[in-house]
Amino acid sequence: MQLPYADIATPRVHRVDRHFLPRSCPNPHCPSHAGEPFEYRRKGVFSRKVDLRTVQRFRCKPCGKGFSSQTFRLDYRLHKPWLPLAVFQGLVAKTTLRQAARSLAAKLDTIARHLDRLALHAEELHALFLERHRRAGGWSQGAFQLDELETFETDRRLFPLTVPILIQRETRFVVRADTGTLPARGNLRPRDAARRQAYEALHGKRQSQSSESVARCLKALAAQLAKRCLVHLQTDEKTSYRALVRRHLGASSDHQWTSSKAVRDRSNLLFPINNVLAQARDNLSRLVRRSWGHAKRRRRLQAQLAVWTLYRNYVRERSHYFRRESSAEAAGVARRRVSARELLAWRGVLPAGV
Ligand SMILES: [Zn+2]
Repeated sequence: MQLPYADIATPRVHRVDRHFLPRSCPNPHCPSHAGEPFEYRRKGVFSRKVDLRTVQRFRCKPCGKGFSSQTFRLDYRLHKPWLPLAVFQGLVAKTTLRQAARSLAAKLDTIARHLDRLALHAEELHALFLERHRRAGGWSQGAFQLDELETFETDRRLFPLTVPILIQRETRFVVRADTGTLPARGNLRPRDAARRQAYEALHGKRQSQSSESVARCLKALAAQLAKRCLVHLQTDEKTSYRALVRRHLGASSDHQWTSSKAVRDRSNLLFPINNVLAQARDNLSRLVRRSWGHAKRRRRLQAQLAVWTLYRNYVRERSHYFRRESSAEAAGVARRRVSARELLAWRGVLPAGV
């Protein structure tokens, strides 16, 4: 195995989990989940051969079961604990699952499982950040932009997909990225028309889920707005947006739209969202045009978008001109820029001081 990490000398003992305090018992049948107070005591330490990290052991008083700080980590029970971070970095750098499997000397299934694991973790962390931001009052002003990117699963003509993304304009903070199916394109070649008929006989007609997926983005924004607020929502002229914005944002937003035929340069009102969509196409192998890395299943594209949202908001620099802060920091959702390693350490909690 020739891993980039293999030549780097490991310090003898690193990242001692000494400051870790368990918040609840990992045993699902523990009486502490039914009201009994959760008490525990420390029960020694052990060091892991794989990364020389010193792990703290605990014993739960109500149920008597043992656990350790490792139980709460994202790499719990992994044979190759370096994979989550390595797969994360590949997934946001235009690497396909197959190529990640080759360079990390793992099986394709393993990488696919890591994508699912990372997506769940990314959604959980993004939700925790947004929940904290909501409790702190949410946004009371500012401009937000929404646009849809078109891609496909398996076949460009038969199974198109829409990817609506909603951002805060100034900071490029991605509030939500969603996916939905689109109906097959018209004017199909006879061979494709026959394939579409065969598909429809089995699964029924492919529906447009554009409105539902856009609505999910608008609901995610509505949840983050302060009680009394006036925000601007900027979109293109698609007619379905007006009713959706009225329904989900109501009086708290002022809807501005611009023609999608206007020149797409920096002077265009929608330049920020167009720029973010272009970044998504640049970062995600599934969105690169005219390549064989395109999505085969919508579910996996949604998973990769969740991972990318975590990267774009919290890890990546806000822009070339604001290199020291992240979009989340500028948007008031995080207190500082975070490294991917910090975000991928503990499950279900935000990293310290973020
Ligand atoms: Zn317990």
